[in-house]
Order: sequence, then C-alpha cells, then structure tokens
Amino acid sequence: MAKNVYIVGAGPGAADLLTVRAATLLRAAEVVLHDDLVPQEILDLCPASAQVINVGKRCGQRGRSQEQINALMVWHARETEAQTIVRLKSGDPAVFGRLGEEVDALRRAGVEFEIVPGITAASAAAASAKITLTDRRAASTLVMVTAHNARNESLSKTIEPARSTYALYMPGPDYSKTVQGLLESGQEPGTPCVVVSNAGRQNEEVRYLTLQELASAKGISAPAMLIVGEVAAEHPSQGHQDLLSEISTQSLPKGREPYHYDRLPIHPSLG
Ligand code: SAH
Repeated sequence: MAKNVYIVGAGPGAADLLTVRAATLLRAAEVVLHDDLVPQEILDLCPASAQVINVGKRCGQRGRSQEQINALMVWHARETEAQTIVRLKSGDPAVFGRLGEEVDALRRAGVEFEIVPGITAASAAAASAKITLTDRRAASTLVMVTAHNARNESLSKTIEPARSTYALYMPGPDYSKTVQGLLESGQEPGTPCVVVSNAGRQNEEVRYLTLQELASAKGISAPAMLIVGEVAAEHPSQGHQDLLSEISTQSLPKGREPYHYDRLPIHPSLG
C-alpha cells in the first residue's frame, strides 16, 4: 500500500457494520486518529503497535480543534514513517463529519488521500426502527439535515435550497428532463453537479458539470447518482506543497512520543 491518509467511515458503532475495506485498513494502520463516537470494539481491530489517538471533542470537554486535527493528519503524512494513516470518523465521513475541512487541508498540503464510505446514522436508525426512509407510497425525498449548523441558525433557515445538497438516485436516462425539473424547482443553470456512474466499482466514472451542461451530456453509464449543489464543484487537482510548510517538525516529537498538542503549530491559512 502506498503511503496515504485514509478517511474512513466507521459506521454507526457496531464492529460488524464496518465495511470490509475499513476493517482491512484498521488492521494495517500505523496511526489512527479517531472521533469520540467510535467504540472500543472497533479500535480493537488496530494492531497493538498502532498509535491510536482520540482527537474527538466531547460536549463540555476540551478537545482538539479542527485546525489541530487537520495539522496532525498532515504532520503524520509528511513527517513520520507511517505508511497507513487512518482518520476514522463515525458513520459516513461525508455526512456531517467536517470532511470538507479535512480534505481541504490535505489537498492544500499536497497529501494523497482516499475516502472510504461508511453506513450513515440515518440508514442505521431506519434499520433499527424497521422503517423505509423512501417508501414510495409515502416519500420521494430524503432530507438529511443537522439541527446544529456552523452558523448557529435556526432550522427554518437551515432547510434552504441554496444551502442544500441534493443526491438524486435514478437520475437518468433522460438527464435533460431531470435538469428541467431541477431548474423548475428553483435551481440555477450554473449550479454545480457531479454525476457518478458505478461509484466504488472498478469502472467508476465521475463527471463534474453544471446543470446546464448535464442537460446535454452524452454517454453517462448506469447505475448513476447525481449530486447537485455548491459542494459538487470540482476541486483543482493540485497540491500546493508549500502551503502547509509551516507545519514543521521542529516543535513536534518524532515517532511514538506522546503528543504535545498545545505546541502543535497551526498554519494560519487553515484557521
Ligand atoms: N458522520 C456521521 C454523523 C456524525 S454527526 C454519520 O454519517 O452517521 C453525529 C450525530 O450522528 C449524532 O449526534 C447522532 O445524531 C448521529 N449518530 C451517530 N451514530 C449514531 C448511532 N449509532 N445511533 C443514532 N444516532 C447516531
């Protein structure tokens, strides 16, 4: 395995609801930076030699800031011998998991990463409650929404089309009709979207477009998912190697020494 940071979904908290890929990575991990919600049962999969670090924040207790977590990932990737660094997050990392900030930091530092999806709490809760989130007789939309948002706004403001991501299942084969429906519902033609065919399979295809471009796009293979909203804008695939150069090793202990979080230098641009 090449040196990499793996951002891994731990699922809802039972070890047998982990993906096989997540379990394989945890068994191979040399460094694991995990959130509070990840149970010991899952951490027990890591080798005894692994550095397993809780970077989570419990309500009311002092935890690592997001900037420190970002810096730690970059530091491990750049400055230590570790080849397999796992950032373990509950559920699915892409659902209310601050994935965006962590991925931005890795991109800016030029650190390679992979994302391993996990079972999100909404799916787990529906299974426990024996309900169908999208029973076709009752619902055609599934909304995942947080009651705590970064801007501290009320729910009535949070549930707002312009700040929403739409994940459309079964978006084809007539994409022009799908786009027309989205435009009629208030989306702008320039809204970014990404269409992913065969996600997670060998023949995966990812296309970043605007809704307008999607309307006339050709050759999109099925099965596909369409994700619409500001989050779907393509990121430049650069790695500005120098941007995080201030995350230096000078004040950090090498190897398996205890951490001195308070002395961890944080690049101001990540603040
Ligand atoms: N990335 C996670 C969500 C993190 S936000 C995911 O995809 O599931 C944390 C919130 O997720 C918790 O406050 C709770 O609302 C929910 N959650 C996480 N695990 C849960 C579980 N096992 N049962 C019920 N809710 C859970």
